[in-house]
Amino acid sequence: MEQLITKAAWDLANSLYAVALTGAGISTESGIRDFRGPQGVWTLNPEAERMAYRSYERFLEDPRGWWEEMLNRPRVSLLGGLEEVKPNPGHYALVELEKLGILKWVITQNIDSLHEKAGTKKLLEYHGSFAKLRCVSCNLRLRRDEIDLTKLMQENQLPPRCSKCGGIIKSDTVSFGEPIPSDVAQQSLEEAWKCDLLLICGTSAVVYPFANLPRVAKQKGMVTIIEVNADITPLTEEGVSDYLIQGKTGEILPRIVEEVKRMKK
Ligand code: NAD
Ligand code: ZN
Repeated sequence: MEQLITKAAWDLANSLYAVALTGAGISTESGIRDFRGPQGVWTLNPEAERMAYRSYERFLEDPRGWWEEMLNRPRVSLLGGLEEVKPNPGHYALVELEKLGILKWVITQNIDSLHEKAGTKKLLEYHGSFAKLRCVSCNLRLRRDEIDLTKLMQENQLPPRCSKCGGIIKSDTVSFGEPIPSDVAQQSLEEAWKCDLLLICGTSAVVYPFANLPRVAKQKGMVTIIEVNADITPLTEEGVSDYLIQGKTGEILPRIVEEVKRMKK
């Protein structure tokens, strides 16, 4: 393990354009459950997975009804109350790599906004953020508190409309079956194509199209792909990643950063 940490630090320190891909695993040490780990939301409650798949169809059929349902139920998602959750050393390690000028982008599947809270600036939230809203027509994003949703409901004005194009506003979180917003999808693909190092943290890499990103990078070639994960994943098994550092992101990523700093001195 020690050797792999040094190797990852060396690879990062010598990269020209490093990009990180993250998944639910980087947030489990903040107390948010993942979906497919042993204590995962789907692992313990398969019915919840089936229900989640219905939500986007409901939105398309009846956006007003969808919003009313959302606002009438307690604002606790499947993952628990996300407002209070704090970033952990794994998130902060990625901030440090960005400040060192090594990490050019973090592309996350997480909707918990913990990378943003930790201070990552160049961030693509592939599945959106629970803290934002998005216009389904033009992709304009707003903070949730920029629209008084309760007032709109009381005045019978739901669904909220975009101030720029008049399109329907939805929560930014990408629902199951919903296409990835075109701006984020396009830029993520470009970054995967451009990078010469990919640092993949805490994702089982089975949710598509996100799981295509490492494969796109691999196909292009001239790239080092490092996984930091508690378990082996399809990327490990298929040889998409060059090596896996097996363990917790909250412990391994800070050690890699320490080593990078030592090398840069
Ligand atoms: P996943 O649940 O499918 O996989 C998580 C992976 O991380 C597993 O391989 C697990 O072994 C590993 N892991 C768990 N804790 C770890 C730790 N401390 N250190 C290193 N590895 C650890 O997650 P996914 O691949 O991100 O796919 C789940 C989908 O559900 C995503 O698309 C995401 O949008 C959503 N989701 C988001 C959150 C969140 O925002 N925090 C949480 C759960 C699910
Ligand atoms: Zn709009």
